[in-house]
Amino acid sequence: MREGNIFIVSGPSGGGKTTLVERVLQDLNDLRFSVSCTTRKPRAGEVNGKDYIFVTENEFKKMIDEDKFAEYANVHGHMYGTPLAELESAAKSGVDLLLDIDVQGARQIRQRFSRGVYCFVLPSSFELLRARLLERGSENRGEIEKRLSEAGKEIEDIDNYDYIIINDELDRALESLVSVIISARCRKEKSIGIIKKGYSSK
Ligand code: ADP
Ligand code: 5GP
Repeated sequence: MREGNIFIVSGPSGGGKTTLVERVLQDLNDLRFSVSCTTRKPRAGEVNGKDYIFVTENEFKKMIDEDKFAEYANVHGHMYGTPLAELESAAKSGVDLLLDIDVQGARQIRQRFSRGVYCFVLPSSFELLRARLLERGSENRGEIEKRLSEAGKEIEDIDNYDYIIINDELDRALESLVSVIISARCRKEKSIGIIKKGYSSK
C-alpha cells in the first residue's frame, strides 16, 4: 500500500481555509480531513467530531500529558491540536490527510515527520482579509483586530511553505489547491511500484 500524503493548509484567520477545505473534500476522493481537538467554543453550525473535537482545558492538558498529539499550539488564546491517531489511521488506510492548522503546528509537523505538502492560503491584500473577517461576523470587533494583528506575524512564516494559494476568487483558489493535491499524487515515487509490478512480465 502506498504511503498517503499529508497536506497542510495554513494562513491567517479569515483567509478562507475552512471554505476551501470543505470544497476540496467534496471534489476529491481518498482525502480525509484531520479533525483537531480544541478548547474553543463551537460556532453556530459546527458539529462536534466533524469540524473539531471540542474539549475542556483539562481534557486537552490530559491529552498533552499522554502524548496524544502530533502537534499542538495556543492559537488566538485557545488550544488546538492534531491527534496523533489521525495520522496513524490515515497511514494505515493509505488515504491522504488534510490538516488545517496554524503556522506553529505546521512547523512541528515539519520537524517531527519531515514530510508533507505545505500550502499557505490567503487573499491578496490585508483589506480583503479584514473584509472577510467582518463579513463572517463570528468574532467581535476586538477579536477581529487581534486576529488581523496576528496575521502579520503568521505571514512571516510563508517562506516555509511549498505553495501559496491566493484566495481572491473562490473557484480559482479551489482549482489551485486541487492542482497541488493532484500533482503530489502524480509524483513518480507514489506510483512507480504499481507500474513496475504491472509491467513486470514484459
Ligand atoms: P478561515 O477558515 O481561513 O478562517 P473561512 O473559510 O472561514 O476562513 O473564510 C472567511 C470568510 O470569508 C467566510 O465568511 C467565507 O465564507 C468567506 N470567503 C472565503 N473565501 C472567499 C472568497 N474567495 N470570496 C468571498 N468570500 C470568501
Ligand atoms: P478557528 O478557531 O478559526 O477554527 O481556527 C483558528 C486557527 O487555529 C486557524 O489558524 C486554524 O488553522 C488553527 N488550527 C485548527 N486546528 C488546529 C490544530 O489542530 N493545530 C494547530 N496548531 N492549529 C489549528
